[in-house]
Amino acid sequence: MVTPVATPAAADEATVIAPQTYSPVDLADNLGRFRSKLSAYLKPEEVARVESAYAFSDAAHRGQFRSSGDPYVSHPLAVAGTLADWHLDPQALIAALLHDVMEDTAITKQEISDTFGKSAAELVDGVSKLDRIENQSYEEAQAENFRKMLLAMARDVRVILIKLADRLHNMRTLGAVPREKRRRIARETLDIYAPIASRLGLNTLYRELQELSFRHLHPLRYRVLEKAVKGARGNRREVVGKIMQALRRHLPEAGIEAEVMGREKHLYGIYRKMREKHLSFSQVLDIYGFRVIVKDVPTCYLALGALHSIYKPVPGKFKDYIAIPKANGYQSLHSTLIGPYGTPVEVQIRTAEMHHIGESGVAAHWLYKDENALSELQQKTHKWLQSLLELQSASGDSAEFLEHVKVDLFPGEIYVFTPKGKILGLARGATAVDFAYAVHTDIGNRCVACRINFELMPLRTELRNGDRIEIITATHANPNPSWLSYVKSGKARAQIRHFLKTQQHEESAALGERLLGQALAGQGLQPADISSSVWERFLHERAAKTSRRDVLTDIGLGKRMAAIVARRLAAAREAEGGAPVEHKPQGAIIIRGSEGVAVQLAKCCRPIPGDPIVGIIRKGQGLVVHTHDCHSVGKTHHERDNWVDVEWEPSTERLFEVGIRIVAENRRGVLAKVAAEIAAGGSDIQNVNMDEETGLYTTLNFTLQVANRVHFARIIRGLRRIPEVMRITRAKE
Ligand code: MN
Repeated sequence: MVTPVATPAAADEATVIAPQTYSPVDLADNLGRFRSKLSAYLKPEEVARVESAYAFSDAAHRGQFRSSGDPYVSHPLAVAGTLADWHLDPQALIAALLHDVMEDTAITKQEISDTFGKSAAELVDGVSKLDRIENQSYEEAQAENFRKMLLAMARDVRVILIKLADRLHNMRTLGAVPREKRRRIARETLDIYAPIASRLGLNTLYRELQELSFRHLHPLRYRVLEKAVKGARGNRREVVGKIMQALRRHLPEAGIEAEVMGREKHLYGIYRKMREKHLSFSQVLDIYGFRVIVKDVPTCYLALGALHSIYKPVPGKFKDYIAIPKANGYQSLHSTLIGPYGTPVEVQIRTAEMHHIGESGVAAHWLYKDENALSELQQKTHKWLQSLLELQSASGDSAEFLEHVKVDLFPGEIYVFTPKGKILGLARGATAVDFAYAVHTDIGNRCVACRINFELMPLRTELRNGDRIEIITATHANPNPSWLSYVKSGKARAQIRHFLKTQQHEESAALGERLLGQALAGQGLQPADISSSVWERFLHERAAKTSRRDVLTDIGLGKRMAAIVARRLAAAREAEGGAPVEHKPQGAIIIRGSEGVAVQLAKCCRPIPGDPIVGIIRKGQGLVVHTHDCHSVGKTHHERDNWVDVEWEPSTERLFEVGIRIVAENRRGVLAKVAAEIAAGGSDIQNVNMDEETGLYTTLNFTLQVANRVHFARIIRGLRRIPEVMRITRAKE
């Protein structure tokens, strides 16, 4: 019997170099074999087109060599050869032959498009984009996100197929590459590409990628296992032969025509099983695998019944992947039986078509025969790909397989890099602001600008897969309400709202305090006259649980009347024993224009300092300041309780917007003259538009920034001096 293999220490492996001998490739020979693969399923004119792509690639890569010393073109040729094995369409083959020219030579996408058509050029571009992503460093723990990123970026399944064939050839020729790089590539293949192959159902490729990765990652373990498996084969031969004979005899007796094959486990599978389940080598190898291939689905179940009558099944080990296929489309019946000498026997029963799809996955669906005669499955695949490209959900009749792969291929997410190489998944359509909030709430609240792929971009920019985003923050920056119009993620939205609400409450509380102070003055009181015990008494009388701050915020928001609160506070003060005071006229609230959201200058009349003003306070709106002669004020005279006495602060620092309407002669250069005069008056133009021209006269509407009425009057005087200007009015409404 074979002795169990101890897992060799990793240190030993560093000294071992994988034994791979390299004979130079015979290009002419490879090209000949490629040609015969092509003519097996393509029309002569298609073969000619693919061959011209080879010539193009050969010329572009002339003078370039691989690590092995082979001419570079041997690589794209091998990649295209793998795609030809999968019977892919001519565009995919052309793209495979050209897949490295954009990255490694001076050829542009446009040239490829001009020579071989748009669709081949798009495929080459897609592969090149993946190559660029690959060169970004990624954290090992993020393999899953990295895979999703690659899949989401590919857009066309053929891009992934080319990329996988590319990786396969690189892995097959890895021996010529320096050891450190070899380990890195092998690790990446195991983490990223093998799982993608599995997800797309490309099981043969999946196993080969795993096997090659294992061999380069752990050369010594690989060799020891390889030797042990060879040695064990002799012992197994007898048992395998016995079972094989039994199956081949009994199935025809039951009227079932079947092909029976023994199944060798691949080395990485054995290795993994030993590690994960802590099994010895002999335990792993004591399991025998067989595959039974029959003509149709009913026969699968008949064969299962027949096998169960030969060997007893192990309870709980039966799995029906025909009724419920695996996510990647794999279908088979699995059962474990108790064979001769009590050895477990694993059988897989499937139809020939299931076998083909099980080995080649998505490539099997993509089988190319003729542009005009696509099989039903291909049509479905076509439709599916189409729907991927259009970002629409696949139609209801698509096989479940396609539905599953679609979900994996096209998640509703995009994947982007932080400056440190971490990958973040965000909702499709997410912007730089969403990214900032995804990193940290503080980053979101303080962000002012961003660099996307090292370029300064607006915060509203929609992010794309593979972007590298750097957020620029400022200590005193605040979220902008306009962000709400474009952020995509719930988190960003909630955080922005939360911030704005808190901010509004603070500003409203400050306004409420001033309004209450004004109302208290009407009662002959100063805010300082209201002690905390008076407040306590006042708050106690209210049934609802409120704080002093809540009351002030409510006043600022117009939800409570300052005058009523002031009267109640005065009453509470007297009840506490405070001396009565005389009523005095109340003073005005001073308006600075910079109070924030709690005090707004009305959009209808746009008051500026110097204008006589009135404040109107309404529920939930806070205080809105209008000019005395504003129409909307006239409409509210029946609700005078809501009017607040307001006054401008004598010297405000900010500028105020004001609208003017100028009627001028319709002559060339009038606009320039007016603009120059406004600038000379020390004002900035915020906005200008012209009414439709009516013959001799033209009407210009400006929005200007002024400090106050005096400043405004000076500008108007300047404008009147322009001969062409006929009439100037201040624009309201
Ligand atoms: Mn390549």
